Amino acid sequence: MSTIELKPLGNSCNLACTYCYQEPMRLAGNTAHTLKYDIDLMIKLANEAQANTSLGQSTFTLFGGEALLVPKKDLERFFEHGLKNFGVTYIQTNGSLIDDDHIRLFKEYNVWVGISVDGHEELNDLRKPKSAKQDVREATRSTINNIERLVNEGVGVGIIATLHQLNGSKDKLPKFIEFVEWLSSIGIKEGNLHMLEVDSEEAEKHMLSEDENTEAFLTLAKFFEKNPSLRWSPFTDFPTMLRGRDAVGCVWHNCDASNTQSVYGVEGEGSITNCGMVNKDGVDWTKDEGTSYTRDLILYATPHEDKGCKGCPYFMMCNGYCPGSAIDGDWRNKTMHCKTLKTLFSFYERKLEFLGITPVTKDDRMKEMEEFYINQLANGYRSSVQQAIEHVEQVNPYRPNAN
Ligand code: SF4
Ligand code: SF4
Repeated sequence: MSTIELKPLGNSCNLACTYCYQEPMRLAGNTAHTLKYDIDLMIKLANEAQANTSLGQSTFTLFGGEALLVPKKDLERFFEHGLKNFGVTYIQTNGSLIDDDHIRLFKEYNVWVGISVDGHEELNDLRKPKSAKQDVREATRSTINNIERLVNEGVGVGIIATLHQLNGSKDKLPKFIEFVEWLSSIGIKEGNLHMLEVDSEEAEKHMLSEDENTEAFLTLAKFFEKNPSLRWSPFTDFPTMLRGRDAVGCVWHNCDASNTQSVYGVEGEGSITNCGMVNKDGVDWTKDEGTSYTRDLILYATPHEDKGCKGCPYFMMCNGYCPGSAIDGDWRNKTMHCKTLKTLFSFYERKLEFLGITPVTKDDRMKEMEEFYINQLANGYRSSVQQAIEHVEQVNPYRPNAN
């Protein structure tokens, strides 16, 4: 599964979020490859990517920066193509610029709207407008109102939130939970909660400590356990993977920083780029042709004290997690969120065992599974926990306590 991300205006945005992972690129002057974009060329490149079977099934997504800075007549051309060739267009936006015309277009062309917002009022204060004349709370209220309007108009909406000090500290987390409950009350039951990616000193100031982050995610895991109708990632991903099935999110799949297979960026002038999460030095690098699983292989062999994952029982699911979150911004290292992830894997392991289900990590055939998994990578094939379990099921179908 891959996302074809069309970025007509590159990283241009009307907000200046304190922790934005694109900020190093803007500071380096790499806002967009060019502010002129060629819609026909971008659509042609998206079609080529869609036809490229090595990318798997692909989705058509308008991305930024802020995708709604693109003039409406041009948005309509992208949406028209998305509907015709993909059946649906996804758009990722901060939600502050949505107006009646946008809503009409979303409905007419079956556009599914992903909104990035970290909560009500002060919880969202890190997502500041670029212009000093605009008030941050006003922009947040506008985003929140627009979420309600979209839902009322029957437009599909998804939420991406990021946890940091303003919404994830001990005193603020209950308010974030209220926000999740409010979303549920208006009909939004699914979302995606991100761990903060630290790409600047500003972002670093607002990050939760490792222990605070772990505590916050664990508290949320318990909250979602009590509210099973709410399906927020990554909380739904852990039990899925521990049952031996692949989770959807790209962060759980082998990701090569020089050819992020899950994200296929198409820039306005036709460059093919990677997922912006891996751009650490202000440059929007173009995509390498081949894919290598060097990071996974390095991490599998490197001890924890050297920032690797050697011996970790969760490796086939986590692979050191997203290279964009690697320690010291160096893709060769495992994620800076390792402790939080291990705590969550262990929490859901216990939940499954309590239900009488043997998690993959406690399966007697783990060694065989890992051998298969690593051999696949070493031979240049993407690998997954589901493939590994399917392999051992063929070789050795006995699985005590399976469910
Ligand atoms: S860099 Fe991270 S977010 Fe981007 S595609 Fe890879 S795993 Fe996903
Ligand atoms: S939990 Fe930590 S050690 Fe284990 S695979 Fe993930 S990053 Fe590596």
